[in-house]
Amino acid sequence: DLGSDVEIDADVAENVDENDLLGGLRIETTDEIPVPDRLVDQVIGQEHARDVIMKAAKQRRHVMMIGSPGTGKSMLAKAMSELLPREELQDVLVYHNPDDGNRPKVRTVPAGKGDQIVEAHKEEARKRNQMRSFLMWIIIAVVLGYSLIIAQQVLLGILAAGIIYLAFRYGSRGSDAMIPNLIVNNADQKSAPFQDATGAHAGALLGDVRHDPFQSGGMETPSHDRVEPGAIHKSNKGVLFVDEINTLDVRSQQHLMTAIQEGEFSITGQSERSSGAMVQTEPVPTDFIMIAAGNLDAMENMHPALRSRIKGYGYEVYMDDTIEDTPEMRRKYARFVAQEVTNDGRLPHFTEEAVEELILEARRRAGRKGHLTLEFRNLGGLVRVAGDIARGENAELTTRDHVLQAKRRARSIEQQIADQYIERRKDYELSVNDGFVTGRVNGLAVMGEDSGIMLPVMAEVTPSQGPGQVIATGQLKEMAEESVQNVSAIIKKFSNQDLSEMDVHVQFVQTGQQGVDGDSASITVATAVISALEDIPIDQSVAMTGSLSVRGDVLPVGGVTHKIEAAAKAGCSTVIIPAANEQDVMIEDEYKEMVDIIPVSHISEVLDVALEGEPEKDSLVDRLKSITGSALNKGQGV
Ligand code: ADP
Repeated sequence: DLGSDVEIDADVAENVDENDLLGGLRIETTDEIPVPDRLVDQVIGQEHARDVIMKAAKQRRHVMMIGSPGTGKSMLAKAMSELLPREELQDVLVYHNPDDGNRPKVRTVPAGKGDQIVEAHKEEARKRNQMRSFLMWIIIAVVLGYSLIIAQQVLLGILAAGIIYLAFRYGSRGSDAMIPNLIVNNADQKSAPFQDATGAHAGALLGDVRHDPFQSGGMETPSHDRVEPGAIHKSNKGVLFVDEINTLDVRSQQHLMTAIQEGEFSITGQSERSSGAMVQTEPVPTDFIMIAAGNLDAMENMHPALRSRIKGYGYEVYMDDTIEDTPEMRRKYARFVAQEVTNDGRLPHFTEEAVEELILEARRRAGRKGHLTLEFRNLGGLVRVAGDIARGENAELTTRDHVLQAKRRARSIEQQIADQYIERRKDYELSVNDGFVTGRVNGLAVMGEDSGIMLPVMAEVTPSQGPGQVIATGQLKEMAEESVQNVSAIIKKFSNQDLSEMDVHVQFVQTGQQGVDGDSASITVATAVISALEDIPIDQSVAMTGSLSVRGDVLPVGGVTHKIEAAAKAGCSTVIIPAANEQDVMIEDEYKEMVDIIPVSHISEVLDVALEGEPEKDSLVDRLKSITGSALNKGQGV
């Protein structure tokens, strides 16, 4: 039983409106949503990975998890440690070895016993010391008495007493050395240990023996007392989690492999020049379950033998990035907010509307129709920023307004660059959002994953001296050539102008931006070229995005929501998008009033909206429709 569902009344559940953002959940605040006790039940989505984790916990198998950051890999690893039996936990003690000081002995006892043993040793040492002190004072008294009364020598007496005192002190150090070093203590563990060794250096992963600056002369720390456990020892009988597994150096990966294979691993000093390197303990148990994680290229760079070991003795799972947007799933997203608020402990609970806004955001971030994003770390970040804003205002609850503010504040680097860029362009008046200009189109592009930017394109057509060329500059050259080729096929059919005898100049105004995706600008380039060729001006209050086929069909593109928001911010009043992207539009309410969204499926519709002037345009659009329409039919006939 997976037990992760959010309960609602059965009669409500039957009649949930598909569009209800909370999936039929009736709450005023997230305070009313119970949070499951077990971490594994708090995990949302990732059914496959959850199943694997539960199975692997029963069978004690290693797991490799590959997927995007923040989708729950470490959460699942931790959840697994809660599923492992607590009864098997052990404490580990390191003892002085009287035969060889550099080979400390290792003893394993049931959890909780370690503390008792150390206590018993301390108690014994205390008693022995008391006994020694008692003896010492008696002997000193006798010697002093003898020197003063019989020999009548004060100096001799004091000297003798001093020597006796030092002899006893030095001797008692030896009895402290008998106290074992408890390197793994599971006395207070409520569940099996979970160790995150992501990015750990060799000592933290494999254990270490500290350097001793005083290596002799009675000042030294006994070697067993300098032994420190590594994550592989502390995770004995529990879970060892290593994210970004490929960044672990090869030597550490090899040692990790040995530890997995042998189930035990001696501790030695990791730094060669330290006195700790001379010390090597007896083997210390390392019976952990390994959960290795990373993104796809982590797998390529990880030690092949380590990977095959995990594969041979365990499971490999690929994490989901998005999940289908169903009422049941949306209820879980509401619970996610409750979980984050509860786990943080300081955030005010969220109102119903605030949760709804977060669910809308999860939809937007999915970037896929009918899905919700599973990148929960970022979503959780938004929850915390919103909650912090509410807390800063001493608000009792986190409201929708706080969430909207948080979204503005928690912008990605790309969004911040895009905003600065828009500001700068305003300074230079490079962005035009009214009037009519020939050969200039307001295109739209996405930067990074979550920010749109308006990207004007200018085209000019001149008679060519030789064979016609497409002249474009910058990183989008290839895309420009391709879209001009696509339109030239169409233009050839309706225009008396022959593009093959022309030079087409395409300029992207002030790109210089990395990460601008090109494909979605092809209707933009086509429109600019047609405008220049036919000398018909373009409405500058229109912005557009869309990909173009050879037949003139407008094909879907990514990031429409961010693009529309960018157009609205830049002051455009109309945005043309591919009809196939209509369902992907999830813009915020305030933008809805600022722009008209026009879905189109053919370049003729684009021109109909964007070009100025009635007679020329109409005849052009008509010609285009008839010609590409017949091209389409011909195409299907073949
Ligand atoms: P990863 O290890 O994949 O990078 P984490 O497990 O560290 O991601 O996730 C970070 C945080 O995001 C978690 O502590 C949890 O609060 C939240 N989170 C991530 N994935 C999920 C999920 N599938 N369900 C619920 N919360 C999640």
